[in-house]
Amino acid sequence: MSKRIKLYEGKAKVLFKGPEEGTVVQYFKDDATAFNNKKKGTINGKGVLNNIISEFLMLRIGEIGIPTHFIKRLNMREQLCREVEIIPVEVIVRNVAAGSMSKRLGVPEGTQLPRSIVEYCYKSDELDDPIISEEHITAFGWASPQDIDDFLAMTLRINDFLSGVFVGIGLKLVDFKLEFGRIVDENGEMRIILADEISPDNCRLWDIKTNEKMDKDRFRRDLGSVEEAYQEVARRLGILPEGGVLEEDKD
Ligand code: C5P
Repeated sequence: MSKRIKLYEGKAKVLFKGPEEGTVVQYFKDDATAFNNKKKGTINGKGVLNNIISEFLMLRIGEIGIPTHFIKRLNMREQLCREVEIIPVEVIVRNVAAGSMSKRLGVPEGTQLPRSIVEYCYKSDELDDPIISEEHITAFGWASPQDIDDFLAMTLRINDFLSGVFVGIGLKLVDFKLEFGRIVDENGEMRIILADEISPDNCRLWDIKTNEKMDKDRFRRDLGSVEEAYQEVARRLGILPEGGVLEEDKD
C-alpha cells in the first residue's frame, strides 16, 4: 500500500490526501470524545458503523438534490470524498429540547419545540465551539449572507428529509449538527456542499416508543450499550453487515 499523506486528524476521523486532485479519504476511528475532549474513550466498531451510516444518509440526501462531498465508500472504515474548504461554522438543528440548549435555557429535555431551531457554533476546539449569531459569521468573514442563505436552506430540507427517514425506522431525530464546505465546480463557480459526516456521533436519536437514547449520549452520560445502540441504528436502516460489526473488531 502506498504511504498516504495525512492532511488532518480530528477526534473521530483522519483525513488523507485522495488519489486524485480535489479528493480526500476520510477514515473513521473508534475513538470517542465528549465535552470537547475532557472525556475520552473507544467505542468498539464505531468507525465501521459511522462509515456505513454516513454513506447511506449522504447518498439519500444526494438523491433529493442536495450536493454532498461524498463520492464512494472505499472499505469498512474509509470513504472517498471531494476536498472542500470547510466553513468554520457548526450548524445545529433542534426539533426537541436536549443537551446544551436544555442546560443553557432551562428547557426540560424532551420538550417538543414549536418549530425547528437552528443554532450556529464557531468551530474552535480551543474556545469550546462557542455559540454565535449570523452577525458574527458575516462580521468575521466566515461566510457571506448568500452562503448563509444557501446552507440554511439545505439544512432545513435535510432536517425535514432525515426526520422522515428516521420516523420510518422508529427513531426521533431530536437534534443534529452539520458542516458545510466550499468547492469550485466544473464551471469555475464557488458552491457550498454538505461535508463531514452524519451519524449517531452528531445526531441525537431517540426510540419513538421508549425514548431510549440511540446515539453518542450513551457514551457522554455513561449509559452503557453504546456499541449496541450504534449497531441498532444501522440495523434499522437495513445496512448492518451480516453478523454485525462488533465481533470482528474485538481483539
Ligand atoms: O451538545 P449540544 O446539545 O449542543 O449538541 C447538539 C447536537 O449537535 C447533538 O446532536 C450533538 O451530537 C451535535 N454536536 C456535534 N458536535 C459538536 C457539538 C454538537 O456533533 N461539536
